[in-house]
Amino acid sequence: MQHYPKSIRNLIQNLAKLPGVGEKTAERLAIHILRRPQNEAEHLAQSILAVKQSVRLCASCYGLSDAEHCHICENPARDPAILCVVEQPADMIAIEKSSAFGGMYHILGGALAPMEGVGPEDLRIGELLERVTSKGIKEVILATGTSVEGESTAAFIAQQLSGSDVRVTRIASGVPVGGDLKYIDKMTLKCALDGRHVL
Ligand SMILES: [Zn+2]
Repeated sequence: MQHYPKSIRNLIQNLAKLPGVGEKTAERLAIHILRRPQNEAEHLAQSILAVKQSVRLCASCYGLSDAEHCHICENPARDPAILCVVEQPADMIAIEKSSAFGGMYHILGGALAPMEGVGPEDLRIGELLERVTSKGIKEVILATGTSVEGESTAAFIAQQLSGSDVRVTRIASGVPVGGDLKYIDKMTLKCALDGRHVL
């Protein structure tokens, strides 16, 4: 490391901060970047800045978006009457990768965790209830995780929606207890969605 000029050392140190990148990999990446043409390095640097500058939360589903509404909410081919409720944007991406779902999403921003001081008002549950009543939603699929927090969040939302006409379902089979949706393989997620049951 100390044999490199300062600018290269600096790049290695910054790359090594990325998850899963050790110093050896960081060194290899830095040398690779050094060898590539100027415009390639510029594109890389600009794309890193662009995610920080332009990515925001979609005004409808609260997923990650470059515009006011994300490409999923803007897609006319998707069914606007079915809402899949997840904890985090990464869960939505995991379900999208499974290609098992053609409706819309609602991202809560976490799960209920009273011990850690996370109550219903800290999640986008109010926004969800408002969306369900104002947008003519017919089915709400509760796809929160199967941890204690995920289960109690699903139970809480189901209870909040119990008086309404909306069909409330919960993903079931195949999702291991304590499981985090983003680590579950595509097929298991597809089975979990197909095998959802009414609450
Ligand atoms: Zn959206």
